[in-house]
Amino acid sequence: MYKKLFIPGPTHVREEILLAQAVPMIGHRSKEYSDLQLEVTPKLQQLLYTQQRVYLYACSSTGMMEGSVRQASTGKPILNTVCGAFSNRWHQITKENGIPCEKVEVPLGQAITPPLVDEALSKGDYDAITIVMNESSTGVMNPVQEIAALIHEKYPDVLILVDAVSCMAGVKIEFDAWGLDVCLAGVQKCFALPPGLTVCAVSDRARERAKQVQYPGHYFAYAQMDKRYDKGQTPATPAISLIQALNKQMDDILAEGLENRWKRHQEMAAYVQDWARRYFKLFSDERYLSPTLTNIENTRGINVAWLNEELGKRGAMISNGYGDLKEKCFRIAHMGDLTLDDLKWLTAQIEDILGLN
Ligand SMILES: *Cc1c(COP(=O)(O)O)cnc(C)c1O
Repeated sequence: MYKKLFIPGPTHVREEILLAQAVPMIGHRSKEYSDLQLEVTPKLQQLLYTQQRVYLYACSSTGMMEGSVRQASTGKPILNTVCGAFSNRWHQITKENGIPCEKVEVPLGQAITPPLVDEALSKGDYDAITIVMNESSTGVMNPVQEIAALIHEKYPDVLILVDAVSCMAGVKIEFDAWGLDVCLAGVQKCFALPPGLTVCAVSDRARERAKQVQYPGHYFAYAQMDKRYDKGQTPATPAISLIQALNKQMDDILAEGLENRWKRHQEMAAYVQDWARRYFKLFSDERYLSPTLTNIENTRGINVAWLNEELGKRGAMISNGYGDLKEKCFRIAHMGDLTLDDLKWLTAQIEDILGLN
């Protein structure tokens, strides 16, 4: 049976978007392709409130988590902020690429805050910092704007690399005004597209920094992307079908209105948070709750895997807790093209299955 996905990726994809991929293939060196890329890029710049470059990579988000750290360090370490599984992955990736790095970590459910970043950066001489904006394993949204403001004030040479995988296109991210250097996201989360494509905004200063890096890699190198950027092409074959769908989805997102889209995510989050407080408990720090997914503490000791099986029979799927939080928590994603009505339907199913009232 078809299940509507309430998991933090891949998310529910509307049929119109699936079908937008089903158009005749075009060559990636053709004018038709250049026109497509040159059409979709300004829409992405609008989404991210930026005049700087937005690249399209044929990979899932993890690819560009690697690509971005490879191009950020000229020998000085990178500070990896860690507040859960995905931010920890970025630390592992940095280490495994042989890039000098340190991590600063908070317990699960807590946020990375400006004072924490200030203290960590004051202890060393760093080239860059990595921050996962929306930690999908815990349901925390880190205050990236405030952190970026602090860094610009006190550590102006530190590049700010942001994984916005589970919140880009669901919350407002003002790339230029906040002064971010890299902001990346795979499209299978809030963009509500099938997986396989990563959108990545890169600042001019991050591109300059990359030129000073001895081994910036090849596939993700901004310098490689820049060779054909103005022409509307990529160095290697792009994910053409996904970009067709992205172009259609960006029209739909802009037609919904960016402010409306952010508001819809806030409303879905508020609804699920209230529901969770009523029947369970929120796992994470109330001051930093994610607008795109809610991590609910399993205070009733329910069998989450069983609940999900029962939901499956009714056409829905949620997520268990991530890693160490499995069965201790469960997660409901409210991102992408889901609506408040979808969430009301879902919580009614859960109440019915568990006999809550
Ligand atoms: C899903 C997710 C990732 C990994 O994305 P892939 O597209 O599977 O590579 C990284 N960071 C965050 C915050 C995520 O939610």
